[in-house]
Amino acid sequence: MTNASGVKPYADEWIADARSETRCEWCGEPERMPRIKLCQHCNRIRKKLEKTRQWVAKEKVNANKHKQFFLDFELAIIEEEKRSCISDGKRLKYLFEGVDSLDLESWLSWAANRIVSKSRLHSGIATRLGWTFTRSQQQVIAYLFWEIFHADARRNRWNRAVGEAGYK
Ligand SMILES: [Zn+2]
Repeated sequence: MTNASGVKPYADEWIADARSETRCEWCGEPERMPRIKLCQHCNRIRKKLEKTRQWVAKEKVNANKHKQFFLDFELAIIEEEKRSCISDGKRLKYLFEGVDSLDLESWLSWAANRIVSKSRLHSGIATRLGWTFTRSQQQVIAYLFWEIFHADARRNRWNRAVGEAGYK
């Protein structure tokens, strides 16, 4: 089957291919280490978390309140990094379960907010998105957004975790 311009609609195949990839169990990255089932990025965080937990437990024994605060903060950053990896993966899982035009509007708002700090730039266009793109096409667009945000999160994970941990 082809559409009016003679192009075969490919959205379903695209999502099926993306879904069939073997992915990191935390962040959804399509490359992972076979035995550990995590990508290198997440595995680095897993190892760092393990080491830091041991180190903090040992250091805390004789630490004063001031030092305890910094040890807790150090650990909270890495726990936040792990949480952030897992939330990337969850977002992808929800996306594979199905995307509607409201979801797509949310992805656009997220992008507009990140790039120009205007989360309402595309607010209220969900209905028109639904008229313009099929469900499958909306899912492909959302997936492309996920790839951008996921790549961005991998690059800035530590910095953002420092910010998040600071608010707790
Ligand atoms: Zn990963």
